[in-house]
Amino acid sequence: MLFNTKYGLVSVNPDNLIHGHIPTIRTAVNRKEYFKNQLLFLYNNKYDFEVDSTDRHKGRVTLICPIHGKQSVDSDSIFLGSGCPECNKFWEKSNTFYLIKLFNENESFYKLGVSYITDNGKVRRFREYKALGYNIEVIFIHTFEDALQCKEFETKLKKIIRPNLYKPNKWEYNSSTETFTNELLPTILENIKYDIVSTSSEN
Ligand SMILES: [Zn+2]
Repeated sequence: MLFNTKYGLVSVNPDNLIHGHIPTIRTAVNRKEYFKNQLLFLYNNKYDFEVDSTDRHKGRVTLICPIHGKQSVDSDSIFLGSGCPECNKFWEKSNTFYLIKLFNENESFYKLGVSYITDNGKVRRFREYKALGYNIEVIFIHTFEDALQCKEFETKLKKIIRPNLYKPNKWEYNSSTETFTNELLPTILENIKYDIVSTSSEN
C-alpha cells in the first residue's frame, strides 16, 4: 500500500501500520527524495541539498549554502543539525530539546525549544533568558541522537501549544511560538512521557 508522508511516498504493508510501525526511509519509494526532504525540514529550507547516497552512517551529502555554496558534509554530522561547516565553525548541534519555566516577580510561563549543550554542560540558550531578567527552572532536557527526531518532537509540541501561546513582557522578538501559559503544562508533560522513553531530567 502506498501513502504519502511529509517526506514523500512510502510503500508499507497495512498490517505493519496497524501494529504501529512508523514509516521510515527504508519504505520510501524514492529514498533520495525522502532523504532530501528530511534535510529540508530539519533546516527549515535554509539550505538546498544534493543527495548521492542515502546511507546515514557512511554517506556524504552536498549542502548548498546561500552564502558559501556547495559544501560536502558527512551524513552523521548533517543529521546532528550542524548545517554549513563554514557558517557553523564550532560544529554546534541542534539536538537538545528543553522545557523550562521562566519567571520573575511579574510573570511566569513555560518555554520549549531546541538548542545544544555547551562545554560547561548548560543549554546554550539559557544565558539569553537570564539576560532578559528571567529566572529559569529546568523541567526537562533531552539530547536526541539525531536532530531530525528532536525537531519532529518539537514541531509536534509547538502545534499543541499554538492556541495557548504566551507573549512574554521582555522578549527579543515581537512574537513567540515557543512560550505558553501554565495550564498547558500537564499536556506537554504527558507527551514527553509518551514519546521519550529514556528520560534524562536535570534540575
Ligand atoms: Zn554557509
